[in-house]
Amino acid sequence: MEKKIPYKIYLNEDEIPKQWYNVRADMKNKPAPLLNPATHTPMTFEDLRPVFCDELVKQELDDNTAYFDIPEEIYSFYKMYRPSPLVRAYCLEEKLQTPAKIYYKFEGNNTSGSHKLNSAIAQAYYAKKQGLKGVTTETGAGQWGTALSMACSYFDLDCKVFMVKVSYEQKPFRREVMRTYGASVTPSPSDTTKVGRKILEKYPGTTGSLGCAISEAVEVATENEGYRYVLGSVLNQVLLHQSVIGLEAKAALDKYNITPDIIIGCAGGGSNLGGLISPFMGEKLRGEKNYDIVAVEPASCPSFTRGKYAYDFCDTGMVCPLAKMYTLGSGFIPSANHAGGLRFHGMSSTLSQLYHDGLMRAISVEQTSVFAAAQQFARVEGILPAPESSHAICAAIDEALKCKETGEEKTILFGLTGTGYFDMMAYQKFNDGVMTDYIPTDEELEKSFAELPKVD
Ligand SMILES: *Cc1c(COP(=O)(O)O)cnc(C)c1O
Repeated sequence: MEKKIPYKIYLNEDEIPKQWYNVRADMKNKPAPLLNPATHTPMTFEDLRPVFCDELVKQELDDNTAYFDIPEEIYSFYKMYRPSPLVRAYCLEEKLQTPAKIYYKFEGNNTSGSHKLNSAIAQAYYAKKQGLKGVTTETGAGQWGTALSMACSYFDLDCKVFMVKVSYEQKPFRREVMRTYGASVTPSPSDTTKVGRKILEKYPGTTGSLGCAISEAVEVATENEGYRYVLGSVLNQVLLHQSVIGLEAKAALDKYNITPDIIIGCAGGGSNLGGLISPFMGEKLRGEKNYDIVAVEPASCPSFTRGKYAYDFCDTGMVCPLAKMYTLGSGFIPSANHAGGLRFHGMSSTLSQLYHDGLMRAISVEQTSVFAAAQQFARVEGILPAPESSHAICAAIDEALKCKETGEEKTILFGLTGTGYFDMMAYQKFNDGVMTDYIPTDEELEKSFAELPKVD
């Protein structure tokens, strides 16, 4: 007999996963290795050590170990805000009059307001364990910077954040949260680094991008003794830490024998989506189950749907290793849309490989549809969603409406990555009916593709 499914499926504290799952272990076609930008040979442990913490480099390069133990210190921190709820969206289903069953995994229940804390605490822990003084990073919309500031204050580490200028100006309150947690915050591009000055010269008046901020943060990490650089998305290690989302979601669903048909997540650099889908993708890769897995990206920054699968720089300053990924070109600076966390030119190389192999699909959505979905969701489900997360909401609603037409009772699972309290300027624009979306032309993309590094 089917058990009555509650609004929220909570796990017990001791059901938080004790290990992260590394989906690469089950991939037949492994993601392409990072390449040295000068020699185009695969980056080794020794090559990456000056930039990243040792333990994180090991995780980054390990395509074969399926499970990594979550250290006790990280587990204790997880207990402060996990397990996160898996919510049955009964009210949204009712509103849409759909036969679909909709579930979302809500990662916004912590002060940083997003899933990013899951990896921030892990990265800060390994930096501390290595005896470092501090870490540097970039932040777009500010969620990653906030999460990292919280994690660094927990472990008493210095934290230097380069914040994309447009967000620094639009989101002064995020900046102040970071400073409250003890981080220093610099708008990027800045004149405090060599690469920042170079970018300012080439693109005067630029509002910045994640790619620029990464270059600055890497420079500061490599030129200051006792510092390393940490990144909040894109990298394999970040997907590994974020697997806690998917493992918890799966454990909760399993309690009620629920199997999703469709799994949806927004995709910026791919960390929440990679984390959410990982145990499900594992089953798919091992031929045990099949799922329809969907990445949702903004039409203004369409890496999967209009990008090229090629080696590219992760940053604008071209100081980082080359990653093979779906990319719009590292010189591509997306329009200043409001989903700051999705404004990255590239995509996780793990997800890129899975997408390339036809194991998942991708769609892009326009900003006004995203906010319409956010508003509809907020009004019935109570939660005020982040603009990034609302991309997934938008796609989930579309799928639920398709079910209404066909009468199919599909089970939809999506990742609700965070809350939107710091995005009220964007909501204001939407409420005032003055929100626009800039979609890049083919010519603009071609211009950017022409500058992709030549790698054979
Ligand atoms: C950063 C962020 C994203 C996008 O990043 P991914 O690495 O693609 O997950 C999505 N939602 C929120 C709330 C974010 O802060």
